[in-house]
Amino acid sequence: MIDGHIHIEYGDYTLEWIQQFVNRAVEMQLDEIWLLEHNYMFKEFAPMYDSVCAHSEFVNDWFHRKACMKSYDKYLELINRIREKNFPVKIKFGLEICYFKGYEDLIVKLTKDKEFDFLLGSIHFVGNFAFDHKAKLWEGIDVDEIYDKYFEDSISLAKSHIFDGIGHPDSIKLFGHTPSYSLTDYYDRLAKELSNSDMYADQNSGVERRCSNTASLGMSPELIRILKKHNVRIVTSSDAHCPEDVGYKIKELDDIVLRA
Ligand SMILES: [Zn+2]
Ligand SMILES: [Zn+2]
Repeated sequence: MIDGHIHIEYGDYTLEWIQQFVNRAVEMQLDEIWLLEHNYMFKEFAPMYDSVCAHSEFVNDWFHRKACMKSYDKYLELINRIREKNFPVKIKFGLEICYFKGYEDLIVKLTKDKEFDFLLGSIHFVGNFAFDHKAKLWEGIDVDEIYDKYFEDSISLAKSHIFDGIGHPDSIKLFGHTPSYSLTDYYDRLAKELSNSDMYADQNSGVERRCSNTASLGMSPELIRILKKHNVRIVTSSDAHCPEDVGYKIKELDDIVLRA
């Protein structure tokens, strides 16, 4: 079993911190863990957030509380140090990168030749709308329009050819909003582009862990069926932000993919 999306942001870049994730992975009988950081932990990526910060005081406060806290060079050094050692589980290192149209060149410039095992592209903002931060931000939002933009952006992400995978591909549902129209066409277009770009889809338990009253576990079965039809690889993950959450519902996520 694989946990393909684990954040290490709440600890220092030490062997001891990584060992805690490994210990939990062994306990949870995982074979592989894919460790990553949000790109916004590093100041090099900060220009990507100018627009969303200017648009909202809430996002601006969040960004200045959370972002640019760590050294990109030190992260790359940690990766090299860990690669020299042996562990009972396979470890990969990557980045989860917020996708904003127009910043593709910056992302390529900052990640090429850095020897990441994987780059995960995720939609965390639809335009300037921080849809996954809190339910209250959805007040007055046109749900149909936001779903449109979310899936158009997801398709652009897949077409950009800069990522290996797409993060939590239908996380727009997290607070229980649904559009008035069928999503089948969007699922189909997205699956085709993911297949063309040889990208995987992240079957993620983090949204359900956070919003268990409003979000189902992992991707919708219809989306999974369409991804399978287009031979898109599906990678299970917890989106853990601490060692305790590593492996969370991975078995269930696998079962959902098999049954869909
Ligand atoms: Zn994410
Ligand atoms: Zn994440």
